[in-house]
Amino acid sequence: MKVLVVGAGTMGHGIAEVCALAGYDVLITDISEDALKNAVTKISWSVKKLEQKGKVKSSDEVLGRIKTSTDLANSAKEVDFVIEAVVERTDVKKEVFKTLDENCKSDVILSTNTSTIPITEIGQATSRPDKVVGLHFFNPPTLIRLVEIIRGAQTSDETIRKTIEFAKSIAMDYVLVEKDVPGFLINRINIRVFVEAMRLLEEGYRPEEIDAAVRYRAGLPMGIFEVADFSGVDIIYSVLKEVRERGFAVEMPEILEEMVEEGKLGMKAGRGFYEYKGFYERVKIPKELAYRISPLQILAPGINEAAWLLRNGIATKEDIDKATVKGMGYPKGILKIADAYGIDKVVATLNIRKNQKKLDEYEPDPLLQEIVKAGKLGKKSGEGFYQWNHELVDFGPVRYEKRHDHAIITMRRPEKLNALNEEMWIGLNKAFLKAQEDEDVRAVIITGEGRAFCAGDDIAVMGSWKSLKDGIDFFEKIAMPLVYTLAYYEKPIISLVNGNAFGGGMELNMFFDIVIASEDATFSIPEGLIGAFPPIASSLGYAIFGRKIARYALTGDVMSAEEAKEFGLVDLIVPKDMLLEVGMEYTDRICQVAPLSAKAVKRSMNAIREIFRNAMDIAAREIELLIPTEDFAEGMKAFVQRRRPEWKGR
Ligand code: NAD
Repeated sequence: MKVLVVGAGTMGHGIAEVCALAGYDVLITDISEDALKNAVTKISWSVKKLEQKGKVKSSDEVLGRIKTSTDLANSAKEVDFVIEAVVERTDVKKEVFKTLDENCKSDVILSTNTSTIPITEIGQATSRPDKVVGLHFFNPPTLIRLVEIIRGAQTSDETIRKTIEFAKSIAMDYVLVEKDVPGFLINRINIRVFVEAMRLLEEGYRPEEIDAAVRYRAGLPMGIFEVADFSGVDIIYSVLKEVRERGFAVEMPEILEEMVEEGKLGMKAGRGFYEYKGFYERVKIPKELAYRISPLQILAPGINEAAWLLRNGIATKEDIDKATVKGMGYPKGILKIADAYGIDKVVATLNIRKNQKKLDEYEPDPLLQEIVKAGKLGKKSGEGFYQWNHELVDFGPVRYEKRHDHAIITMRRPEKLNALNEEMWIGLNKAFLKAQEDEDVRAVIITGEGRAFCAGDDIAVMGSWKSLKDGIDFFEKIAMPLVYTLAYYEKPIISLVNGNAFGGGMELNMFFDIVIASEDATFSIPEGLIGAFPPIASSLGYAIFGRKIARYALTGDVMSAEEAKEFGLVDLIVPKDMLLEVGMEYTDRICQVAPLSAKAVKRSMNAIREIFRNAMDIAAREIELLIPTEDFAEGMKAFVQRRRPEWKGR
């Protein structure tokens, strides 16, 4: 079987290579001899590289399958399948298709790689519009192994079926675009996201901030502006202009026009959104800029577009997600991303933008609104675009929520700053044990409701102990089981410190693996000030942080989130309203680690903790020794009466 590739430019030569590698005889035509020579040189270089890597047996054999010609009409006569990849001009394409139609055998499918011209319009230049189809590759086709197969108004089912077969035969995965809409599938989503990124830029965000958010948090391989500079700002501008003229409702960002006028065309011009010293230079994007803006804000218009495509029967949800992963390099499908952030949050984000920008294009798609109305909010409700395993159990004041692959444990005594009373200790232990037992749960998030994370032991409870036995019983039966559950926990724990973490509330964080704090979080271990002492901080804390823990244990000084980060207790500080989404982004990343590997990491770390077990046991005994002292009784009483205790100087 022989394939004809018309046009030997950027796309044509890559497509020809893919076909030759798959074993087809390939004929490439172009009006330019130079373009053909260039194409052959590039293909040879690439195939020889593959041979060196052992991925191709004989480069000569592959290259021997490729022939070139400037004679389109004669070439057309001898081929079985055509892929057109000439310049993006309607008049040129129509002329090429007319020639193809007149010369190709009657059963030959004529496919086009156009990005913006309607397939239907191209088909009408032929006498076989039923055999004209969109076969849209991405640059470079040798690496991006996905095509969009686009049905024109007259394309037959038979043509679609044969084109799918052909795509498979050249080792390409495919998505089906059932209607000939401007921008098809991938570019429509891409355009929405690009345009939003550009608007945010106009509003004062820096390109690095936006790119850091999508790269380091959403997990995209390249930032939006990096891609724009790589593809060419002028190319994006012309695609946008073209699809707008064909009815795609999107306001052109002013900045894009200005950049084209100023010659800021991206990498090829040495400047675009970034400055470049050489070609293929990778921009440095600092990780710490990733928390200025939520990836959801940048992606929400893309999710809205995906909903539009789905609602209008243009693509299935599986294909939309496949396209975002295989064609755009997203770590997961855009509809899965929507489910993870929450569809209600997507809708809220769009509504805020609609009010700010007064643009209809932000109107949440009816499908999104309908889903939210039906209570299908995504992972957090068990259903969104997809079904998710979801479970909600309250263990006293502790809420356990399973969200498919992770659990969120929330301390819920906000009026008592989530202080650890008996029910809280027991509830936490039960919740952590439940998460540990559930095989679906790959990571656990813990946080507090209200303005505090956890204010530590409930002093009112401690003050109520009538005898030493009460106190010892409490520690041994109520508190220590949680401590040991955490000390030997086999799943990663992410702590989201949403406010004050005092006493036991700070100490628990010494067992957690990743501690993410809001900007206003504070930490302290002031137990000594009321006649008690912080047992975990003074044993395990000393092992983790060294002597510097003493300063805080001996004074009760409060640490800000920044200080706690410098100290080593906190890993990351983020704005409060981002806390949960950042926790979720981290669980997503943990889910990419093999479960047994994560378990091995945890067990090995727990083994190190075991070395300090003796110190922790001694600390537990120390607290029991303090319970019967006058200072302890005085301290508890004073705390409850909100006054400073007076020590007797012993
Ligand atoms: P290009 O400019 O690199 O190559 C176009 C080639 O077509 C040139 O070699 C030119 O000489 C040749 N040509 C012009 N008129 C011709 C004719 N009448 N007959 C035969 N050859 C002719 O362009 P490109 O980037 O390879 O784009 C080609 C097509 O692929 C366009 O439709 C474009 O929209 C589409 N596309 C491009 C990309 C991309 O990233 N570049 C991605 C997907 C799809």
